[in-house]
Parts: sequence; C-alpha cells; structure tokens
Amino acid sequence: MGLVVHKFGGSSVADTDLIKTAAKRAIETKKGGDNVIVVVSAMGNETDRLYELASQIMKNPPSREVDMLVSTGEQVSIALMSMAIQSFGQDSISFLGGQIGVRTDGYHEKAKIIGIEKEKVEAALAEGKIVVVAGFQGTDKQMNITTLGRGGSDTSAVALAAVFGADVCVINKDVDGVYTADPRIVPDASLLKTISYDEMLELAGMGAGVLHSRAVELAKKHSVPLRVRSSFNEKPGTLVCVEDPNKEQPMARGATFNKKEARVTISGVPDKPGMAATILKHIAERNINVDMIIQNPGHSGLADLTFTVPKSDLHETLGVCREVSGQIGAKDVTSSENIAKLSVIGSGMRAYPGVASRMFTALAKENVNIQNISTSEIKISCIVAEEDCDRSLRAVHHAFELDKVE
Ligand code: ADP
Ligand code: ASP
Ligand code: MG
Repeated sequence: MGLVVHKFGGSSVADTDLIKTAAKRAIETKKGGDNVIVVVSAMGNETDRLYELASQIMKNPPSREVDMLVSTGEQVSIALMSMAIQSFGQDSISFLGGQIGVRTDGYHEKAKIIGIEKEKVEAALAEGKIVVVAGFQGTDKQMNITTLGRGGSDTSAVALAAVFGADVCVINKDVDGVYTADPRIVPDASLLKTISYDEMLELAGMGAGVLHSRAVELAKKHSVPLRVRSSFNEKPGTLVCVEDPNKEQPMARGATFNKKEARVTISGVPDKPGMAATILKHIAERNINVDMIIQNPGHSGLADLTFTVPKSDLHETLGVCREVSGQIGAKDVTSSENIAKLSVIGSGMRAYPGVASRMFTALAKENVNIQNISTSEIKISCIVAEEDCDRSLRAVHHAFELDKVE
C-alpha cells in the first residue's frame, strides 16, 4: 500500500460544496488502495480576513498573537473536511499541526519546520483513517503556535510527504497546473507538462504564487514528486520532478514577478572590507530574507549598497539599517516600495547566449525603464516600476516565446 498526500488550497475549499468535492477526491485515492493524508488551507480568503482584523486593532501587531489568530482558519477547514469525508462513509480524523508534533523554529509568521512526529499519524493511518492535517502551522519548543508564511500549507504538505515517504504529493489548485506565467496576467501562458525542481524553485522564489518556494525546496531535498493539478477537473496537470538530462531544454521555461518586495539603499558606505558583511549580518540576525544585493563601485572612498527585502520586513529592516549606518559612518538610508521584480527562468539558459539582451530589448520596446538587474545561471531579474510590471511580463513572455513552451 502506498501513500498519497493531497493538499487543497483556499480556493479549493472555499465553501462546503467544494469541501465535499475535495473529500471525494481523497476518498477515491483511498479506494484505489493508497493511504491518504489530506492537508488543507483556510477557506477562501479567510487568512486575509484574519490579517485584516488584526490590522484594525493595531498597526504592527505582535507576531505571536498574529499566529494565534491566523492559524485558526485552518482549524475550521480540517474539521469540515473530516466531517465531509465521514459523511461519505470513510473513516477520518483531523489534527492541528501541534497535535501531530509539527515542530518549528520560533520565528513567528515565517517559521520553518524542524521535524514532525510520526506516531499519531501512523496509528490513524493503520486504523484505515484518512488523516486530515491543518496546513500552514506548527508549534515551537515552548508550544507557541507558529505559521509558515503566506502560502505555507504547500510546505506543510510536502513536509508530511517527505516524513511519511509518500509516493506523490498532489497539490490541488484552482489552476490546471504550472503555467509559463501567471495565466491571470498573461492569457496566452502555456501549461507545462513537467518542470524541474530547480526551475520551479526559481519561479516560486521569484514570486510565482502557484507554489510556496520552501515547499519546492523540501520536495527537491527529499525527492518528493509534486503533481500540481486542478481540483475541478481530471486533467493530469504539471509534474515537478528531476530534470531529464537527455531532453533539449528551451531557453526559458517561465516568467514571473514579485510586487511584494521593497528596495533599500544605504548610500555613502565607507568603501573598505567588511562593510557589506556587517550590514547584512545584522539583517540576517532578524531572519529577514535579502535578495538582489548590488553594490556600486565606490567614489571618493564611499560606495552604495542596494538590496531588496519583503515589504512586510521593510519597517524592521530600515530600523536595523539606520542603526548600523550610524555605527559604520554611512551617509543615508532610503527605500522604495513602488517596485516590481520581473524574472525569466530556465535551465536551458546555460546553453544560450544573448538571454539578457533579449530581455532588455523586450523591455526597451515597451519603453520600460530598468532600475536594477541581477542574474544567476538559470535566471535573469530586473527591477521595474510597479505600474510597468504587468505589461513588462507580457512583453518578456512574448520575447522568449514562452507561449510555445510545453
Ligand atoms: P491555493 O490557494 O490553492 O494555494 P494560490 O492562489 O495560492 O492557490 O495559487 C494559485 C494561483 O497562483 C493561481 O490562481 C494563479 O493565478 C497563480 N499563479 C501565479 N503564477 C502562476 C503560474 N506560473 N502557473 C500557475 N498559476 C500561477
Ligand atoms: N491559509 C494560508 C494563507 O492564506 C496558508 C495557505 O493558504 O497556504 O496564506
Ligand atoms: Mg497557495
């Protein structure tokens, strides 16, 4: 007997009819002879609603209490899901993250899973039950409830799949699979049959909301095959797996954007060894993720350091930067939130020249000003003004002929 983890996102459990539909899919898998763990998100936009409630109380609510609040959405959906499964005659049991020992670190609102205990889930599976687990949450060493960051129930599902050795982790969504770009913004985006872990990692890391990037990281690390498919039809969707080394890769596999980051510039940093390390060390100590680090060559012994951080961490980052700037004698700290990071990714890039110029030409034709650029082996990213983002994405998608990629 194998094991399948089925994850249902918010839009797949947005009302009780959808919950019943999802329950039937889980039961079908169980009847096919596999054990089943179901991981669910909060219903519809419930998590947004809970965040909004917190913001009505205060501007920067304490994150421990935020987690206490926003984790409740999943408690509702696991109970309803387990009821739905039982209403169809299949035995089932629901658990919160903490109840099955989903242990995390203590970084509220962006906690990482450290381990998952096996006993309870294994016992329930052995009794023939479908086990329904609340995604997005765990508890830290002190039993505080933590959450894994927005979209984090994908990560809960993959972590469970890894720990229990699932044959596949099925991520059931409101889209048919992974497209070459967000189909809501690029109508001619194409549905990918497969995508490698590395490419998916870059796409998710650069903002494609279709999968939580930590989920892809874990899937890669533990070789968990991920199938991303629609909750609403029987199409096979996209398999995220190891790259086939014998297949010729297209220059690009996808394009994406991230409007959730802000740019910070520290100007007039003394141009001597250790400065960037000092600044970034202080930010890292707060567990803030920094991306796109760019340092301009110094003039008159002074350099500028620019990087991006999640907008949700900007307030804290600026506080840290101002403090460190004072200590190291830097001149000024500025930030901009009106930006979007546009990225094109593809492992085929390694083999093609002219990738960057193709992107820049596409943006120039659209009269879009590129503010910053960074590249890796399989990715190129540009920062543009937020209002230019969507048409830039369409232009770049077209320039890389992503509508023809499978
Ligand atoms: P869930 O609630 O199931 O986790 P999400 O809303 O988090 O679903 O993610 C699905 C959404 O991700 C889709 O509706 C789609 O608009 C968006 N998306 C962004 N980029 C992509 C992409 N490359 N392929 C598919 N969907 C994408
Ligand atoms: N409910 C959480 C959110 O909306 C987690 C998830 O859906 O993955 O971010
Ligand atoms: Mg999601």
